[in-house]
Amino acid sequence: MRAIETKPIGDANFYKFSIDFVDDKFIIGGQSLPLGIITHDILNIPVDKQPAIGDVGNELITLYSRLNSENYSDELFISIRETIEKTIKVIKKIKPFSYFNINGEYDYINFLLSDAKIKEWNHSFSSMPIPNINFVPEGTDMYDQAIILTEFIKSYMYLCTDTVNFYNIAKTYFVNLTENGFRDKVLLAGYTKEFFSHEGILQWLEEMNVTDFTHNFTLEPGVWMAPVIIKNKDGLAMLGRRIHFDRMLNFYVTDMFEGLAVGHYSWQCGICNKFFFMETARKQLYCSAVNPEYGVPCAYVAKNKLNMPKQKKSDGRGYVTWKHRKDSIRREKYLTNNNKPNAKYDVETCLKASELINRYFEQAQIDFDYAENGYEQDMALDHIFAEAKRLLGKK
Ligand SMILES: [Zn+2]
Repeated sequence: MRAIETKPIGDANFYKFSIDFVDDKFIIGGQSLPLGIITHDILNIPVDKQPAIGDVGNELITLYSRLNSENYSDELFISIRETIEKTIKVIKKIKPFSYFNINGEYDYINFLLSDAKIKEWNHSFSSMPIPNINFVPEGTDMYDQAIILTEFIKSYMYLCTDTVNFYNIAKTYFVNLTENGFRDKVLLAGYTKEFFSHEGILQWLEEMNVTDFTHNFTLEPGVWMAPVIIKNKDGLAMLGRRIHFDRMLNFYVTDMFEGLAVGHYSWQCGICNKFFFMETARKQLYCSAVNPEYGVPCAYVAKNKLNMPKQKKSDGRGYVTWKHRKDSIRREKYLTNNNKPNAKYDVETCLKASELINRYFEQAQIDFDYAENGYEQDMALDHIFAEAKRLLGKK
């Protein structure tokens, strides 16, 4: 008996994937991300990609029902392969799909649907009295592979339809959340309860998934969980839980609710209408991405527009660190200006250091990865002064 999961890293293929949840983060394919980011990524799938995802999803549904009702044909199997390849092409560069093991997807295609494999399928089916996938005799290799094949195709059907459906629900949820101004955990919980017990929403969810295989917007019992011990970025052991998912929707819903539970949410920018991701209850109103129409971040656009509520600098990401460093640099400058014996840096270096912390802060408003992985290191006081001296060519 094994009490804990010992595989160092979970699978990251659409057909079979498991995610490690630790604190307010999760790990997919070795990459650590904040809870709620999958939902956020779906909200930000480029508008021009969405119809394509829906279209390949519908093509796959048609092929899947043909697979179940028709007898074997090379044409059918080749169409399945081509449509799955087309699906990968549409999704592989966009988040959240790019977090998955895309090369592994091609390995599965090779294993199940290569030209040589199709010859083999052809051969096996032609020896059957009824050459249909539902009549493959149990207990054979062919049966095992037929199961993997159908699960593999289903994972893509789920991926497409679940993404389109979940996008619509999540968008309605977070647009309303923004309009109501709910940010802290208690408000998020109350709003969530109200939203998902609303008569109209329930009816909508009911009508949204009326095909045989996409029943409802519900978690299915296919989800299961195991304890896992993994190393954090400092190499220390952490206890977490590895959840195995057999359907994309289960992962989406888990991500959204686990994210909300720790106070992570998406917020709609009042200027560009895109969603940005928040991990605190701070009242950031506008996204920090550069607005293509104005060439400056939306927060600056709002600053210069009449009638727009103004965003405070203190609501920006990483503000507390910025404020501490600003005070430290001011103290250094004071020591220097007053010729104190413990003064370490000249005025020019202090000014450069001020410029640097402003630059790092601005960068953290625009770049999520930087805010998460580079900002705090760059903002270490030693680093700031060393960098200031380097830029000034001082020893
Ligand atoms: Zn914006």
